[in-house]
Amino acid sequence: MRLLEERIRRDGKVRPGGVLKVDSFLNHQMDVRLFMELARAWHAVFGSENVTKLLTIEASGIGIACVAGLVFDCPVVFAKKSKTLNIDGSLYRTTVESYTHGNIYDVIVSRDYLLPEDRVLLIDDFLANGAALDGLCDLVRQAGATLIGAGIAVEKCFQPGGERLRARGLRIESLAKIRAMHDDGTLEFC
Ligand code: 5GP
Repeated sequence: MRLLEERIRRDGKVRPGGVLKVDSFLNHQMDVRLFMELARAWHAVFGSENVTKLLTIEASGIGIACVAGLVFDCPVVFAKKSKTLNIDGSLYRTTVESYTHGNIYDVIVSRDYLLPEDRVLLIDDFLANGAALDGLCDLVRQAGATLIGAGIAVEKCFQPGGERLRARGLRIESLAKIRAMHDDGTLEFC
C-alpha cells in the first residue's frame, strides 16, 4: 500500500536489531485517518468473508483494530496480557514471545468474547517472527472459531513469520512489506 510505504519512508526510524520505530503515526501518536485507509484495504480483501470479530493483541494492535472494527462493523477483542490464573476455566490462555521486548508473556481472552460460531480476522501492527500471530491463532483454535486470516500493517519479510504462517495456510494481507533495513537508516520494500 503506497500510502503506508510513503509514510514509513518519511517518518519511520530504523533502529539496530531490525526494529522499525513508527511512534509518530502508529505506535504512540496515532494517525487515525491513515488507520482508516489501512482498514479499508483489509476490508477490500476480507470484506466478503462475513467476519464477525476482529482479534488483536495488547497493546499496539488495539488502535488499528478499533478503526478496522468500524469498517468491518463488528466487535474488536484484544488478547490481554495477564498473570491471572485460569482457576474457573473461563479463559483461553496462550504464551507469546515478544520480539521487541525479548520476554515471554501470557495473553488471555475471556470465553465470553470468542465463540465457536465466530469468524475471526486477526489484526496486528507488525509481523516479524510470527509469535504474536501464533498466539492469536492458538486462541482462535481453542475457541473452536473459524480463522479467516490476518490483516497486518507492516511485515518484515527478512524475518521468518510470514513465510512460515502462509505455508501453514494462513491468509495474510500485509500492507507494507519490508525486504531489508540497513544500518544507515534506509530500508527497501518488497
Ligand atoms: P512477532 O511476534 O511477529 O515476532 O512480532 C510482532 C509483534 O512485535 C508486533 O505485535 C509488534 O508489536 C512487535 N514488533 C515486531 N517487530 C517490530 C518492529 O520492527 N517495530 C515495532 N514497533 N514493533 C515490532
